[in-house]
Amino acid sequence: MNKQSKLNVNSPEARAIANHIHPYTNPELIKNDGPHIITSGEGIYVTDSNNKSFIEGMSGLWCTSFGYNENELIDAAITQLRKLPFYHSFTGKTVDPAIDLAEKLISIAPESDLDKVFFCNSGSEANDTAVKMIWYYFASKGMPQKRKIIGRRRGYHGVTVVAASLTGLPYAQDGFGIPLDFAKHTLSPHFFADSLEGESESNFVERLMSELESLIEKEGSDTIGAMFAEPVMGAGGVIVPPKGYFDALQKLLKKHDILLVADEVICGFGRTGNMWGSQTFDIKPDILTCAKALSSSYLPISAVMASSEIVEGVEKQAAKLGIFGHGYTYSASPVPAAVALRTLELMEERKIIDHVKKMEPIFAERVKALGGYSSVGHVRSVGLIGAMEFVCEPGTRKKFDPGLKFSVKASKAIQEEGVILRSLPHDTIGFCPPLIIEEKQIHEMFDKIEKAMPLIDKMAIELNN
Ligand code: PLP
Repeated sequence: MNKQSKLNVNSPEARAIANHIHPYTNPELIKNDGPHIITSGEGIYVTDSNNKSFIEGMSGLWCTSFGYNENELIDAAITQLRKLPFYHSFTGKTVDPAIDLAEKLISIAPESDLDKVFFCNSGSEANDTAVKMIWYYFASKGMPQKRKIIGRRRGYHGVTVVAASLTGLPYAQDGFGIPLDFAKHTLSPHFFADSLEGESESNFVERLMSELESLIEKEGSDTIGAMFAEPVMGAGGVIVPPKGYFDALQKLLKKHDILLVADEVICGFGRTGNMWGSQTFDIKPDILTCAKALSSSYLPISAVMASSEIVEGVEKQAAKLGIFGHGYTYSASPVPAAVALRTLELMEERKIIDHVKKMEPIFAERVKALGGYSSVGHVRSVGLIGAMEFVCEPGTRKKFDPGLKFSVKASKAIQEEGVILRSLPHDTIGFCPPLIIEEKQIHEMFDKIEKAMPLIDKMAIELNN
């Protein structure tokens, strides 16, 4: 530990510094104060080890849709733990909760054709699995060379080596020697940040499509299997695609016989105001990956859903090789499956999608109001996900020097007022509260955020001078 640290060596903070490697954390920056330790939760609130309560404005990592003490989910886990705490799904075995959950997922899939499910534990594993299925599928069709996969800059698909290769954010790739060669990247549909001066949204979409088509032609469509896309790009900055984007994208991919994988790890299960982001943006994916809110994140579980055409190809290839040579110890594990099944039932019983639709305009109005602060250059939202993007000169798109870490400082100021949010690339702060948030609580959350805004504006002016 840093000699300067004022922490008592026996404090949980000092012990955490000494004993864990912290994911997505600069180890230098937590050496003095240690990590922020969260000890309990209730509804949309969490409490830390100093007994301070916060609104969890990001649902943790875009995931705890039912908040932090949903007894129905806890009971589902306990009941299943008592009955069968673990069994696997290798070598032709499976368990009842996985059968029921797969059936439920297929019944709510955005496309009737997505009719088989493979279970994993995380979004990253689901995306790696989807890539392996694509490789098997094209091999079964006599096109084993169709191995390249397209991702987008600013996209986030996870951290395993394949998923991180498809991610388009340097912080997940630098230092690891990735992306691997199979991954190619195209532009992201971030109109505010990346459109040219005076460019209309439709011209912007045309330009993105023409850049993508050049990439496809350069690489050769006979070498490209699929493209991955989040309906709304979450970790890259809550990027809501411009009108017409997914329509044009799907036409282009079809023309070149390239599959589309919808990464619904954040957007799935109500976040954008429909069960799936694919429904909100009229996407017809060949494969869909989901995780996070599938179990309200009470236990780790994720899923890959694929069209029957792809599944047939995968099964043909597996039969040829004598095995589908892929699976995780906890694929279709009974306790996470039981919790996920109860989550999906609760979504229906409590009409969560209707609730999100009802809250959406209230949330949108409060996000929009943040655009009135001088440090905020752009605001955006859909369903119950949104963002504000800072600029260093009001009325322009000019960014702060990244070394100033402006949005990190801004999110700290907001946290001081009692709302946990997340700083995202390009000086953006995301909003993604639990889907159970009530109207009064939306106001409470944004009132607290607005309490920090004058200080944030002042900080922006000082840094700009
Ligand atoms: N895909 C998307 C869109 C995500 O936002 C994330 C995580 O935030 C992942 C994939 C990776 O999921 P996990 O962290 O569970 O591996």
